[in-house]
Amino acid sequence: MKLNISSFSIILVAGLTLLMFLLWSLSLKVLVDRQNLQNSASYRQDLLGQVRQLQQKQRLWLQSQYFLLNTLAESPGEGRNFQSFLWEYYQRNPNIWAVNLIEFDAHGNPLSRSGKQGCLQPGQMQRDNFDDYLVPGITSCRIDGMALLEITGPVVIEGSARVLLVSMDYFDFLNDFSDLSGRRLQPAVESERGIQYYEYGLDNDGGAQVIIPLGDSASVFAELHLSLQPMSFWQLFERQFVMVLAILIAAAIGVLLLLHLNVIRPLLELAERMRLAANSLQQASAKRRAEVKPGLRVMRDYFDVLQKMAKRDPVTGLHNRLIFEDRLLQAICEGKRSGRRYALVMIDLRGLDEFALQRGHYIVDVLLRQVADGLRESLRESDHVARFERNLFALLLEVQQRDQLNTLIEKIYLSVVKPYQVFGRVIELSALFGVAIYPEHAIEADDLYQNASSALVRAESSEWPIQFFRDADASTDTSGFSMIQSLRRAIENDELKLVYQPVVDLETYQTVYLEALLRWKDPEKHEMPIDSTIRLAEQNHLIKPLSNWIIESACRFVSEFQHKDVAVGINLSMIDLHDRRLPERIETYSQRHQVKPAQIVIEITEGQIMQDPDEVVEVLAHLGTMGMSLSIDDFGTGQASLTYLKQLPVEKLKIDQSFVRDMATNPDDQLIVRATIELAHTLDLKVVAEGVETLAACDLLAEMNCDHVQGYYISRPLEAEQVAAWFETSVKPDLARKGR
Ligand code: C2E
Ligand code: MG
Ligand code: MG
Repeated sequence: MKLNISSFSIILVAGLTLLMFLLWSLSLKVLVDRQNLQNSASYRQDLLGQVRQLQQKQRLWLQSQYFLLNTLAESPGEGRNFQSFLWEYYQRNPNIWAVNLIEFDAHGNPLSRSGKQGCLQPGQMQRDNFDDYLVPGITSCRIDGMALLEITGPVVIEGSARVLLVSMDYFDFLNDFSDLSGRRLQPAVESERGIQYYEYGLDNDGGAQVIIPLGDSASVFAELHLSLQPMSFWQLFERQFVMVLAILIAAAIGVLLLLHLNVIRPLLELAERMRLAANSLQQASAKRRAEVKPGLRVMRDYFDVLQKMAKRDPVTGLHNRLIFEDRLLQAICEGKRSGRRYALVMIDLRGLDEFALQRGHYIVDVLLRQVADGLRESLRESDHVARFERNLFALLLEVQQRDQLNTLIEKIYLSVVKPYQVFGRVIELSALFGVAIYPEHAIEADDLYQNASSALVRAESSEWPIQFFRDADASTDTSGFSMIQSLRRAIENDELKLVYQPVVDLETYQTVYLEALLRWKDPEKHEMPIDSTIRLAEQNHLIKPLSNWIIESACRFVSEFQHKDVAVGINLSMIDLHDRRLPERIETYSQRHQVKPAQIVIEITEGQIMQDPDEVVEVLAHLGTMGMSLSIDDFGTGQASLTYLKQLPVEKLKIDQSFVRDMATNPDDQLIVRATIELAHTLDLKVVAEGVETLAACDLLAEMNCDHVQGYYISRPLEAEQVAAWFETSVKPDLARKGR
């Protein structure tokens, strides 16, 4: 309920009035109680005085009646006797109960009496001898339960002496007392002791009771019982109520008036002014709102963008540090509750700044997006990835089995360091990983960050790019090299294999050579991405044994097909090309398996040559002189200078599959492929188109005079055991055109 100030003040004043009224009632009660106490003491005093006064008055009155009758008895008036006078007298004085004239005999004994009642009651005459009545005297007596006050005295009637006895009813006395004292007496109740009167119908327990003996001191013929009714609160309340209420209401109205004039009215005026001000403000702000609404909408859009920005990295769309830290805290809480374990992986991408300098920031952004996509793909749903800063990414991985964590992280590592294609250019990235595990390495988020970061710092100076946190005191390195160890073991134990993909002549449909492609399944039997595996080997001094294994395996394979005069293509790594003893190594294996150098095609990528052309040219020239043919792989993705190409004993150019795969539908790719073929032909080089996946591409390439084709449309890489079957069918040109 809402109270306004007027109703509030009315309620306040009414409350105060009620309070005052209650206070008055209380004080009245106290006053009455005190008064009653005083009254009961003084009451008796007052009453006795009043009774005495009345008795005095009665006596005087009775005496006066005697004297009057005495006088009249002697001379009752003309023509009448005393007896007839008496009759009138009774009529006039109802208080007179009886008037007797008593005669005495010669001895002075009373003979009879006569009067109103006509007879003298036994015991009424208290004095037996006439002489005793010579002095008038007042007595009281009870006759038949009646209380009488009598006066007796001598009287002479018609010359003879008699005694006059005048009796009055004591009830009359009491009636007189009622009048005299101003007390409202209740009707008398006679008891054995006398007569009782009650004032105000009091019960005897309540107030003071006064018992006054009536009669002579010798014979008390009656008692007057009077009780004082204590002053009643309600009587007083009744008497004062209306007046007090009127005063209080008048006072309340006065206070209200004062309040209204001095407080309420000014306040109401103030409220009204404020309401008017608020109204005008509201109107102004509504107007203002209408004016600024479009602006607000723009601001809200900005706000949405800002909110997104607050959560996401604008370049990659990955979560930013803020959200990642929140996820990490949640993960740690979950870990504390359920015992789950988590790995925090900090990833530092290397070389981005140089790329930015060389090729511009936009290229780096595109590259970062690809890295982010790769990371997203390689993670499970329960994992999180975020970009912290330009080069810095973070992963939060749930550790389901500790022994598989190393493999998982290495896989992610390989997915990051793969070559990226940005606007037709291949960019290779390197990366460092620092790992800390909850709860092994830290149990709080900050410590986990610190430890993962310190592992990352250590990765910079160590040979292995993935480093786990290691305590300063820890003597053993807990980081895993499982992948590299597995690869080493795979090379040693001959667990790798080569598959062979035919390169077919477009005119004759003869197999020109079979490109050997490496295949490796990791310890969990997952097929590993082979270009990353090569990079792993390159970074860990394993490429030499790996390449040796490949060269030897390829030579062994060729030797099985000696009679077919088949050639094999071997992909070499950059590190191999820097090894001056490479020709020697190849020679060793080819001789061991009686493979002629002409049966070996060395594939090197355009990018590899251009990294260090002078040194590479020398090794390649040596290989050329040995009789091996060279093929420039992935042509078009690097920046091979034609001058170098001319210097090399290069026989073939392999147009990179990124131009070939969609050339049937992409005119730009078609243009590049056509120009490359023409250029190669002017340099007297054979052209291989790799990544031929459709008949349309095949037909287009034939029309462009491409020499050789390789791709899924011709054949997928074959297991060594499948190659024999391939030779049986591939000689028929129409088979290739129908597609396998
Ligand atoms: P590359 O030498 O250009 O090999 C061609 C790659 O394209 C192979 O992938 C092959 O499976 C794939 N390919 C062939 N035809 C098609 C096609 O029609 N469509 C598509 N989408 N792909 C096709 P792979 O085997 O994964 O090899 C990838 C790269 O790894 C190779 O590229 C090569 O640079 C490197 N590599 C493979 N084996 C070896 C090796 O024994 N030694 C060295 N050093 N590098 C190797
Ligand atoms: Mg190749
Ligand atoms: Mg290639």
